Amino acid sequence: MNIIFLGPPGAGKGTQAQRICAALNIPQISTGDILRRAMKEGTPTGMKAKSYIDAGQLVPDEVIIDIVKDRLQMDDCKAGYILDGFPRTVPQAEALEQFAKIDSVIELAVEDEKLIKRISGRRVCTKCGATYHISLLGDKTTCDNCGETLIQRNDDKAETVLNRLTVYHSQTAPLVAFYESKGLLKKVDGDGDMDAIFGKIMEALGQA
Ligand code: ADP
Ligand code: ADP
Ligand code: ZN
Repeated sequence: MNIIFLGPPGAGKGTQAQRICAALNIPQISTGDILRRAMKEGTPTGMKAKSYIDAGQLVPDEVIIDIVKDRLQMDDCKAGYILDGFPRTVPQAEALEQFAKIDSVIELAVEDEKLIKRISGRRVCTKCGATYHISLLGDKTTCDNCGETLIQRNDDKAETVLNRLTVYHSQTAPLVAFYESKGLLKKVDGDGDMDAIFGKIMEALGQA
């Protein structure tokens, strides 16, 4: 099953994609994680992406489309995948149609006020991509999966978060109508208990 997770920054796409991917045994393709890895390694793509990401803007469509196109050709995508953070613009969605057949689009909906709280408290593992929130971490500072020290993403700092929400509403939200018109959209309330949301997504995917 080829699935898209759509939703604003902080909606829980990464958190839920990790769980659904484990349950369905398919890879999670997070364009944010791919770009952050490229930045860490200092590749040409990473260097190009950095100024956009740090400003809370989207990296140019042609950069990200090529990355996803290559990634979806890898063997582990044959049985399906979750796209987490792609597409984010209508041109990206149109390009995707040329090289992939999407079965379901899950829209995770959460109001802006709650998103700001979630993003400002997010801590991430730069090694395995796991995501945490300070409200649940206590005095823990390392990743449960791999032991790496957790950090706050540069673009999760207050001055960038509002930009990212504005970018979502202007450039990414039009994809809701785009996929609704194709009969692929399933809206899931992203506010509430993480386990309950996982159940609702599995149900929306016909996997419950
Ligand atoms: P996204 O990938 O959509 O940007 P994340 O999955 O990284 O969102 O989640 C953003 C933050 O909110 C993280 O700190 C995460 O731990 C927290 N979070 C995720 N789901 C929930 C939820 N249902 N309730 C409260 N906090 C959540
Ligand atoms: P979040 O989980 O908070 O929604 P991501 O980790 O998905 O954020 O993305 C972080 C940043 O990486 C974005 O703000 C953007 O600059 C860049 N990025 C990720 N995916 C895309 C994409 N599909 N198109 C353009 N830029 C992207
Ligand atoms: Zn980790």
